[in-house]
Amino acid sequence: RTILGLESSCDDTAAAIVRVTDTDATILSSVVAGQTDLHASYGGVVPEIAARAHAEKLDICVEQALTQAKLPLRAVDAIAVTSGPGLIGGVVSGVMCAKGLAAATGKPLYGVNHLAGHALTPRLTDQTPYPYLMLLVSGGHCQFLLVSGPDSFSRLGGTIDDAPGEAFDKIARLIGLPQPGGPAIETAALKGDTTRFAFPRPLLDRPGCDMSFSGLKTAVLRTRDALISTQQGLTRQDQSDLAAGFQAAVVDVLIEKTRRAFAAYPIAPNRTLCVAGGVAANMAIRAGLETIAKQNEGTFVAPPLALCTDNAAMIAYAAAEQMQKRDPDDMTLSARPRWPLDTNQPAMLGSGK
Ligand code: ATP
Ligand code: FE
Repeated sequence: RTILGLESSCDDTAAAIVRVTDTDATILSSVVAGQTDLHASYGGVVPEIAARAHAEKLDICVEQALTQAKLPLRAVDAIAVTSGPGLIGGVVSGVMCAKGLAAATGKPLYGVNHLAGHALTPRLTDQTPYPYLMLLVSGGHCQFLLVSGPDSFSRLGGTIDDAPGEAFDKIARLIGLPQPGGPAIETAALKGDTTRFAFPRPLLDRPGCDMSFSGLKTAVLRTRDALISTQQGLTRQDQSDLAAGFQAAVVDVLIEKTRRAFAAYPIAPNRTLCVAGGVAANMAIRAGLETIAKQNEGTFVAPPLALCTDNAAMIAYAAAEQMQKRDPDDMTLSARPRWPLDTNQPAMLGSGK
């Protein structure tokens, strides 16, 4: 099956073509057009600007994806699109574009959950067998999932307030580092002292796999305020130490909770721990998770950075698996701003995204 995928749920517009056989998956092309520069002067993603930019860029991305794959549109077998969750304007733009392509070509249309795209990425990249434990950690989400099929996710725990990516972005902004905050903090932290500030590790004293990051965020910001008021600003070293202290706290929380998730749900016979989502690009987090997997005699799978952050290859791939199990969507497919993966769970809390 050759699938064209579209993604526009946040601030990246993306199109990709993925070919999936019974034994492997190949990314024929994957185009991502970011919007970082569009939003830079606003200090965050502005939904109206994002929606307009998606509408403008989707066609171009699709054309580039086809050109790079050296395929005409009629050669694809299905059109897949992120139909939620995410910023409603962007998702609507993507769904409309996909419907147009499906109508024009007569190809089947599949609406895909963005989080399913992230959660199935280890299968796209490494043919990871089901079931596996997934830590999905991104700009708007943070949860442990037991993934046992392309439509089968059970949530073992997750953040009860903010997502780490959101915290990385907010803290970067407030200590004077550029956006996106994750890579900026990771780089600054390399030169920082993790022991200078003692930041909390929320919920570590409580059993289970739930996490919290809002108190940590507040603690970092209080420390920053105190530094600014006593010395009229932050030095480069202060920035690095704040970044290092914050990142170390996030790593500790994620690692300890992953250890518990792994111990509580030994996933015989594979014992595979996977990570996905934009924050999974963080090397300190990847290294910590790999250690947990090794200590548990498990395998660790972390997709390459470009497939951790938002992309359309993961959406095309998720549709390729799901189309084996369900009928296509019809032209009534609508955008869902909230769409929990585990239908037994209420919509995620927090995250104003
Ligand atoms: P969601 O998938 O929950 O809807 P999203 O699509 O906005 O949210 P992603 O694109 O998966 O999120 O990830 C973006 C987030 O990843 C941003 O918050 C960014 O700061 C964070 N991020 C990217 N690289 C790193 C890194 N090296 N370290 C930490 N965080 C990172
Ligand atoms: Fe994402």
